[in-house]
Parts: sequence; structure tokens; C-alpha cells
Amino acid sequence: MLLGMGQHFRMEYMLRQFVIGHVFRVLLFLHGGPMNTPVNLMSILGKFGTDDKCRTALEQLRWPKKITCPKCDSPKISRVYERGTFDCDNCRYQFSVTSGTMLHDTHLPLTVWFYVTYVICESKKGVSANQIKRMFGISYKTAWYLCHRIRAAMLEVAPEKLDGTVEIDETYVGGKARRWRPRSDKAVVIGIRQRNGDLRLIRAKDAKSATVREIIKANVSGHVEVIMTDESAIYPWALKNLPHGGHKTINHTREYAHGDVHTNTVESAFSLLKRGIVGTWHKVSAKHLPAYLDEMVFRFNNRRNQFLFRDTLIKLILSPNLEYKNLTAKVQDAA
Ligand SMILES: [Zn+2]
Repeated sequence: MLLGMGQHFRMEYMLRQFVIGHVFRVLLFLHGGPMNTPVNLMSILGKFGTDDKCRTALEQLRWPKKITCPKCDSPKISRVYERGTFDCDNCRYQFSVTSGTMLHDTHLPLTVWFYVTYVICESKKGVSANQIKRMFGISYKTAWYLCHRIRAAMLEVAPEKLDGTVEIDETYVGGKARRWRPRSDKAVVIGIRQRNGDLRLIRAKDAKSATVREIIKANVSGHVEVIMTDESAIYPWALKNLPHGGHKTINHTREYAHGDVHTNTVESAFSLLKRGIVGTWHKVSAKHLPAYLDEMVFRFNNRRNQFLFRDTLIKLILSPNLEYKNLTAKVQDAA
């Protein structure tokens, strides 16, 4: 398998996001202020109706205690009110609240960033760049780039491994919907879901036992109680290290559930994903599929988080910028 530029970039990006994950948890713990109440569309329009209000909110999220220089960490800074920027008195670096973040050098009003972030957080099945284009009166290219940056910030890195009762299933997305076509032009997505817990959707290079085995190893705890799958030939070998009785299967040609043995909760996540891909994004390229999967998983796993909007903003100001040229770089895809 060739490691395409896109994948290489993604790995580098994930490493950086790993560090960000720790800072994120500290920031969540520290910060207070006007973002500590749940929001709805009306309150967002009121609280963040101007770029100045958005800038103040971002400052509180990025620097909950004291504004410090991103270059030298010095707290001795002077605010330049006219430009909404800061000068570092120590190293003379000039910066703003968006410097070095996902919003770095953005030409879009901050209000648009806030509103689109809210719309993406609230749209269970995702929202297409075309829809954002129409809603906000911006070009398709701008909308597409904006959505991808918000999506990239949502990436959950090094999440905890799934435990307890875990369901695993595979599905195929994309390609042409022709009955006689082989599945080879479709992308394999492995779904893993802990009952009453989190979901993972992982794009696999194929649906072979060895591939699925590695994915399970990376995402499921070694102390998992029981794993439920259908009777596909993939799983016995992929799960052969489980203790006796640790793998239960359901024969889907006969029944959907046998007592509590079923894969219904992971399948319901698949159906949400497919409604998103068919209904919202229309055509997801193999290259960008992992990013869409991450967005879907992030929203799904935060479905009870009342502060999803705030937390996504924090992720945006903690994430390094995702340059347009990196996003559009041609990749040798592993599909
Ligand atoms: Zn400095």
C-alpha cells in the first residue's frame, strides 16, 4: 500500500491533534464566561451578532486566564484596539486571536465561522457545502473549504478504546449503485459501537480478516466483555484471541436479534451515515471519506453534549490551520 500525500498529511495532523487533545481538556476545565450556557440559534444570533463579539468570545476561549504571546509565551502584551490585534512587548510579535489557528488569515467574517460551526454541530446527518453556500451567500469553494476546516478540527485523536458490549459490522459506501457491479469500487467502512457508548467509523483498505483484526485491536479494549457480529467469515479469525464465549454471532438470514445478541445499534449508525452520504453530501470522494466519517462520529459521540458548539470552537482555535493546498493535493489513494 502506498502512503499517499493525503494519508501522510493526515498522520502528521493526527500527531499534532494528539497534543491539542490535552490542551483542550485543560481549557475546558479552566474557562468560564458567557459560553457556559447551552446555545440555540436565537441566542447565537444575539450573543455573537458582530465580529467584535465573536473575537471577544474566542479570546476568552483561547486565553481563559491571561493573553500570552503565541511565540514566546510572554504575558506582557499590548492590545491594538483599532486592528483587534496584539503586540508582544517581549519579542515584538504581532498577533490576533486567530493567529496560528484553524481560522488563521481567514477573509471570512467571524460571524460566518460561528454560524456555520453551529449549523454543522446541529445537523445530525451533516450539511453540504452547497447548502452552506446558499445559506450564507458565499461561493461554493469558500463554503467547501470552510466546512473542511471545521470538520478537521472535529477529529478526535487517541480516543479511549471501546469496552463492555461491543458490536462490529462492515458496510460499503460510494461507487455506482449498479447491482451487477462488484463491490471493489466501493469503500469499506468498519463500524464499531459500544452499547450505550461511543461509535467509531473507520475506512478500511479492504474487508479481509487481517485488516479488520488490526482495526479492532486499535479501537477495542483487550478486556472487552463480549463482541457481537453477524456470521460473516471475516470475524472468527479477526477475533480469534477472544476468550471462549467472548464472540457472539447473529445469523442475519434467519433473524435480526437473538435475545440481546444483535448488531442493531451499529447498523443504526450506518443508516445515519448512509443518509448523510446519499442525502447531504451526495458524492464523497474516497480521499475525503475519512474526514466525513470523523465528523459523523464526533457529532454522534457528542449527541448528549450541551456544549458541543463551544467545544467545537475551542477545537478550532487550538487546531493548526489546514491549508487549502494540502486539502486539494492529489493523492495516490489506497482504495
Ligand atoms: Zn512574544
